[in-house]
Amino acid sequence: MTESELLSRHRAVLPNWLALYYDEPIEIVRASGRRVTDANGNTYLDFFAGILTNAIGYDVAEISDAIRRQLDSGVLHTSTLYLIRKQVELAEQIAELSGIEGAKVFFTNSGTEANETALMLATQYRRSNQILALRNSYHGRAFATVGITGNRGWSASSLSPVKVSYVHGGYRYRSPFSSLSDADFIAACTDDLRDVLQTSTSGDVAAMIAEPIQGVGGFNVPPDGFFGSFKEVLDEHGILLISDEVQTGWGRTGEHFWGMRAHGVTPDMMTFAKGLGNGLAIGGVVARGEVMDCLTANSISTFGGNPVSTAGAKATLDYLLDNDLQGNAAKQGDTLFGGLRDLAERYDVLGDVRGKGLMIGLELVEADRSPSPPSAGVVLEEAKKRGLLVGKGGLHGNVIRLAPPMTLTDAETGEALEILEGSIAAAQEARK
Ligand code: PMP
Repeated sequence: MTESELLSRHRAVLPNWLALYYDEPIEIVRASGRRVTDANGNTYLDFFAGILTNAIGYDVAEISDAIRRQLDSGVLHTSTLYLIRKQVELAEQIAELSGIEGAKVFFTNSGTEANETALMLATQYRRSNQILALRNSYHGRAFATVGITGNRGWSASSLSPVKVSYVHGGYRYRSPFSSLSDADFIAACTDDLRDVLQTSTSGDVAAMIAEPIQGVGGFNVPPDGFFGSFKEVLDEHGILLISDEVQTGWGRTGEHFWGMRAHGVTPDMMTFAKGLGNGLAIGGVVARGEVMDCLTANSISTFGGNPVSTAGAKATLDYLLDNDLQGNAAKQGDTLFGGLRDLAERYDVLGDVRGKGLMIGLELVEADRSPSPPSAGVVLEEAKKRGLLVGKGGLHGNVIRLAPPMTLTDAETGEALEILEGSIAAAQEARK
């Protein structure tokens, strides 16, 4: 079956709203290191890491061996009603890394389920279904999480059971507060938060959920201390803080293991997924014990925390820590930022370069600085032609997202910069 036949069968039987990248979508059939190969034999450097799921890269012996040992036992899964050794060990490790006192962990299969669980815990604990979320947020695709997803392009349904109010998310490039200094920007957004609490809620808000750096929203980075200032207001009202670390966790931002740390804040709960499994389906919530234990009836996830996923995740986490991939994310990120900021000086189609570590957003703009989705489209396609896979995002679909595996090498960083220069030059040329 050719890729185009596969595409037409895909279109016939899968939902219209299941997004696919590229004019000619690709099928990845092999992968190794930071490179993936499609069914036509084209090899690409993967700078989106399967939407940040591949923290470490492909075909890593330590992780494959850990999974294989589990497979060799014959137990892919029986039931989470029985003890699972790796689940306990992984939970202990994540609880410790979380910095949350008396933390407990619950495993799910995805980020969506992790956030659904966090919402259930917060609303149950506080006996309120009022949630604060950030404008332009993305938290998942199920009934409650889609309701706290502010980004219009991904708000698939407006019939959520949660009562949500949106506050400023810290996106500065197009904010009315963009000209303010960091301190004044934080003060203005904190005033906005107080205002929303007073004018748009009945005063018994359960929790605020926030991505420390918005992922789908376009890698928007609020100034350090932003959520510290928010937390002071939340504490005045007993409102819980949930940090959605699905994209920012595991050291990807370079400077901290969790994105929220940049704000001097320890949240009440963190949710995680994606990179932890290095390709396997796993997510979860780590929360203050008292909050985690607030449910009064039994609950379980049939597959959440299963032996295969937790064996792979434990090996991934050990690999991340043993090899200081957070340090490498900082190092490679610095080189990329240097090169990309230089490109922004030379090509005005590149309006903004932002992010932290190996989470880098490139905002493509028209000559008048308005969003340019077509330019982002050109960069996406041109990069692919030149052998580089990148992501797209942002409210207007005009932000290119770079998030390679954290094992990235100096040579690969250089190779990517070269390809990006060619692709951005092509977008500049096409915009004329
Ligand atoms: N939270 C954030 C910040 C995400 O980026 C995503 C996925 N893009 C999710 C939650 C949902 O995760 P999943 O797709 O695994 O359900």
